[in-house]
Amino acid sequence: RAKSQGPATLQMFNKEMSTRAAKTLSLQNRLRRAVENAELSAHYQPQVDLSTGAVIGMEALVRWQSPELGMVSPADFIPVAEESGLIDAVCEFMLDVCAHQNKEWQDQGLPAIPVAVNVSGRQFQYARRLLSACERVLATSGLDRRWLELELTESSAMRDADNAIAVVQQLKEMGIGCAIDDFGTGYSSLSVLKRFPIQKLKIDRSFVMDITTDPNDAAIVDAIVAMAKALKLKVVAEGVENQEHLDFLRGLGADQIQGYFFSRPLPADGMRQLLAEGRKLDLQPLDTLMAHI
Ligand code: C2E
Ligand code: MG
Ligand code: MG
Ligand code: MG
Repeated sequence: RAKSQGPATLQMFNKEMSTRAAKTLSLQNRLRRAVENAELSAHYQPQVDLSTGAVIGMEALVRWQSPELGMVSPADFIPVAEESGLIDAVCEFMLDVCAHQNKEWQDQGLPAIPVAVNVSGRQFQYARRLLSACERVLATSGLDRRWLELELTESSAMRDADNAIAVVQQLKEMGIGCAIDDFGTGYSSLSVLKRFPIQKLKIDRSFVMDITTDPNDAAIVDAIVAMAKALKLKVVAEGVENQEHLDFLRGLGADQIQGYFFSRPLPADGMRQLLAEGRKLDLQPLDTLMAHI
């Protein structure tokens, strides 16, 4: 009995292990095919200026519509893409699609705004490939370089800050601006942050979520806005979902917002239409607002 139990347990253990490995592998394989078969697309979420209410930018977010798995969230497949090296192909797809799409809209006479593409830390590590991909898509699309931006998360930026600073500097020299994404979650020191030649800080959604009810979150956002101003950076609040969030952030002096309150990320058609209609955020005068809070 005992003799046969050992191998059986081992077998079960091996089976479970290989099931998990197989799942990751099959996700990897599916993702590899997804890149080849055009199952990926870009959605766009508008960014709004709080002094005018106008759309002044858009963030591109990758979407994967898998025939077998349905809509797969980037939160689930970006980590797999990073581990398997497929992230380069995903990023190059996004750069290519976004540059061409943005140029096409401008050629149609829609207002010119920058499109921001997310890049992962790994691509900053091997930056030559990223830099040449940027050059290539600018050349093939004909998009003016000021209309392409990159977003790098604070935690990736800080993992090897000296390298990230050098890459951001090279991008800046190429005419491509960078924003630090998910700010507040990555433990940067002020002394390191001030060395980054960036234009923008994006405050992580987790601080905005409870801004009207959690005094700690309100204090953190207040401090980030003040710090960004001191460093002459624009500050964008992510995850603005309602009027209360909006009013509070205006009161604190944030420059821009992005979130479901104004618009969810939209497929290309939806974004084009929003730009064509010239849709704006309705802003009541700030002094009326201050009387309420
Ligand atoms: P992120 O760059 O911080 O993007 C913002 C995320 O917040 C998006 O999720 C967006 O849909 C979501 N969001 C925007 N407004 C609101 C709101 O008001 N409420 C809530 N609850 N959520 C909001 P998404 O599209 O699922 O992307 C998740 C993350 O996946 C992104 O976070 C980014 O880190 C990564 N990602 C997305 N696309 C790409 C890509 O093309 N390349 C890379 N490397 N990463 C990407
Ligand atoms: Mg982002
Ligand atoms: Mg973010
Ligand atoms: Mg995020």
